[in-house]
Parts: sequence; structure tokens; C-alpha cells
Amino acid sequence: MTDMSDMSGATGVRGYTDAEIRELLQVVGAFCEKEIAPRAREIDETGAFFPDLMRKGAEIGLQGLIFTEDLRVDPAGFAPAHETTELISSYSAAVALAFGIARLHGYLLARYAPEPVRDRWLPGLIDGTAFGAFALSEPHSGTDIRAGRTVARRTPGGDYRISGEKAWITQSPAADFAIVLTKLETADRNADTAAFVIPLDTPGVSVGRDEDMLGFRGMPMAGLGFDDCRVPEEWRLHVDGFRGMLEGLNLARLDAGCYGLGLLRGALRETTRYVRDRQAFGRPLAELQLVQEKLGRMYADYLAARGLLRAGVASFAAGGGGDAHLISAAKMVATDAAMRHTVAAVQLHGGYGVHLHYDVQRMMRDAKITQIIDGTSEIHALMLGRAATRADWTAAGL
Ligand SMILES: Cc1cc2nc3c(=O)[nH]c(=O)nc-3n(C[C@H](O)[C@H](O)[C@H](O)COP(=O)(O)OP(=O)(O)OC[C@H]3O[C@@H](n4cnc5c(N)ncnc54)[C@H](O)[C@@H]3O)c2cc1C
Repeated sequence: MTDMSDMSGATGVRGYTDAEIRELLQVVGAFCEKEIAPRAREIDETGAFFPDLMRKGAEIGLQGLIFTEDLRVDPAGFAPAHETTELISSYSAAVALAFGIARLHGYLLARYAPEPVRDRWLPGLIDGTAFGAFALSEPHSGTDIRAGRTVARRTPGGDYRISGEKAWITQSPAADFAIVLTKLETADRNADTAAFVIPLDTPGVSVGRDEDMLGFRGMPMAGLGFDDCRVPEEWRLHVDGFRGMLEGLNLARLDAGCYGLGLLRGALRETTRYVRDRQAFGRPLAELQLVQEKLGRMYADYLAARGLLRAGVASFAAGGGGDAHLISAAKMVATDAAMRHTVAAVQLHGGYGVHLHYDVQRMMRDAKITQIIDGTSEIHALMLGRAATRADWTAAGL
């Protein structure tokens, strides 16, 4: 396997040439074929987490792609990182999610954590030995983040006492720490907010039951409870909580778009293989025009989503949290297309499409999740629609 250590973001400041990205993708493609493809079905069937794969991925630098050697964010790494996410997701969206969120948690630590907190967790995220979680949603409020009721109250000694509940927190049953959004002092809708990096063995923290899910199986997921949990000031991120978490959410939305894109790519790969082989009425399905039309739309939507996501990733790499409208559009278009076309892929496989040992049905179940996480498709459409009603279409558009 090619040594990627000099391309893993370790060198920091330089960008990646097209040739380097191609070389990186060859290495990651080989990793997918050798390590992920043979495991994808078993991970889906058993729902078992895969820390060994995370350590193997770390050996080829996957989690470290967006960081410099001195643990800062390397903007040059975003484009190659998202290319790898797409590729890995075409084999297993759950595994792609695990690498994506390692970079998301690392991004927030590198950008906003006090140095000792960053140094405690980020090296472990990069080498696949530590795991984090990103805790925004609450049982009564997912889309409406401002309705959150988890509150941090300052003590006379300068620490905080946190109480509240978070829901659907990916990887929390396997995580060492969580980055948690709280209100300050009161649960009022417009209260000030903070974000804390909280080790999950802190007294007062509880991790709920690992939920059995429709898709992205293998990624553990549970709620988190905070019962008067005492947290020192030093664990607080140096950013307004809401603003910092929304910046993280923009990165997560690009990742979710790339999971969708990878599912589209996987569906194209599996379906074209199948229709070339399967005979009906004396010839391969691939020769039937109605089949070609379905594949043509799938391919066109893949290309369109890919272009939008690349533009969204470039806007994020340019700083300031990225172009929120572009990122919303990319996430929504890619994940909606993934849902539409993985359903078509199952249909094109006929009866075999619903056999659990054919991968397209797993892709379809995973695609459904991509439309819900990191802002539902409806909410992205709503935000874009609002912007559209206000835009000056004769000038610069949105
Ligand atoms: C597999 C999985 C992993 C997740 N991982 C995480 C995680 O790691 N961290 C985290 O913080 N959260 C996580 N979530 C939570 C996820 O972000 C929320 O489920 C999502 O934001 C939707 O919130 P909700 O479930 O409360 O739905 P609701 O907000 O109750 O929405 C229900 C429905 O109503 C629609 N709706 C809501 N408001 C409007 C509106 N104003 N106009 C039109 N339609 C509307 C929605 O689109 C949706 O269809 C995860 C969820 C899942 C399923």
C-alpha cells in the first residue's frame, strides 16, 4: 500500500495537486476493497461498531486529512477529505460517517478548544484510538435547536453545573467525550449559549441505550443525560456555543451530502453491474431503453450533486463557516437524489433487490437517514425558499 504519511495533512500548509488527490484516492480505494467491502454487510447485519477499521484508516491518514502537524485546521485538506468520504460511503455509509465525524469533532477542537483540551483528545481522534460525539439535538427539539433545554449554570467557584438531555447522539455509546451545546443560566429561547467538551466518564453524565436503527447500522447511537454535572471552565469552547456548533453543522452537512453522493455512486456501480448481467426477453436489461433512462437520470443527478458539493466544500475551506445556502442546497440535492435513486436501484434489481445479501437495499435504508440528519430536507428547502423570496434575482441571485 502506498505510504500516504506525507499527504495526511501532516505537512500542513500546501494544497493538494490533482495527481496527489488521485494517488490518495487510489490508496483509499484499495483500503475500501480490502478492508471495508468484505465487512460492510456484516456491519449492517450485526450493527456492531468497528474500532479496528478506524485504527486501520488512521494508518493511511484518513482522520488527519484536515489537520496540520501542530494540530491546527488545514483548509487544503477539506477537498481530499470529502473525496474520500464519498468513496468510502459507496462501500459503507456507516464507515464513512465514522471517519467524517472524527474530523468534525477534531475540527471543533482544533478551532475552538483550549489547548490542553485539544491536546487531550485530538491526537487520539487522528490515530483512531479516541472517539467523540456532537450533541445538539434534544428529545423534544431536533430541527428547532433554539428550543433546547440543557442549561449550564455558573457556580460561585467558577465551574458550571449542567443539567439536561440530548437525543440521537451518534457514536455516544462508544465515545470518550462529547461536545455539548448548552444554554447559559436559563432555558429561555434566546439565552446565551456555550459548548463544552465533556468526558463521558464525568460524574452526572449518563449514556442511554444503543438504539437499533434502520440505516447506518454499526454506528452506535444513544441519548445523553446530564444530571447536575460539574464541568470546569477549562472545558468550554472559545466561541459562542450556538455559532460554533452551527459552523460544525455546516461541515457535518457537507459530510452528509457526501454520504448521499457515495450512496448514489454505489447504487450506480451495483446497478450497472447487475443490468449488464441480468437477461430479460433474450437480452441484457442494460439494453432496454427504459432501464437506460433510469440510469441516465441517476448518473446526471450524481454529477450535479457532486458539482454542488465540491463548491460547498470550497466555500467551507475558504473560512467563516462556508456559504450556508450553498451547503444547504448541496446537502439537500445530494441526499434527496440518493433516496430517489437507491429506490430505483432496488427496483432495477427486481426480486433480488430486496434480498439482504444485495447491497442496494442497505444503500436505500442508509439514504433515508441522510435526508434526516444534519437538518432535514424540508428544513433546507425552507431556508433556501426564504432566501429565494428575499433575493434580488436581477442582480446576484441568492
Ligand atoms: C441516525 C441519526 C443520527 C443523528 N445524529 C445526531 C448527532 O450526532 N447529534 C445531534 O445533535 N443530533 C443527531 N441526530 C438528530 C437529527 O439531527 C434530528 O433528528 C433532525 O435534526 C430532525 O429533528 P427531529 O428528529 O426532532 O424532527 P422534528 O424537528 O420533530 O421534525 C419532524 C418532521 O417535521 C418537519 N419539520 C420540522 N420543522 C419544520 C418546519 N418549520 N417546516 C416544515 N417542516 C418541518 C421535519 O422536516 C421532519 O420531517 C441524529 C438523527 C438520526 C436519525
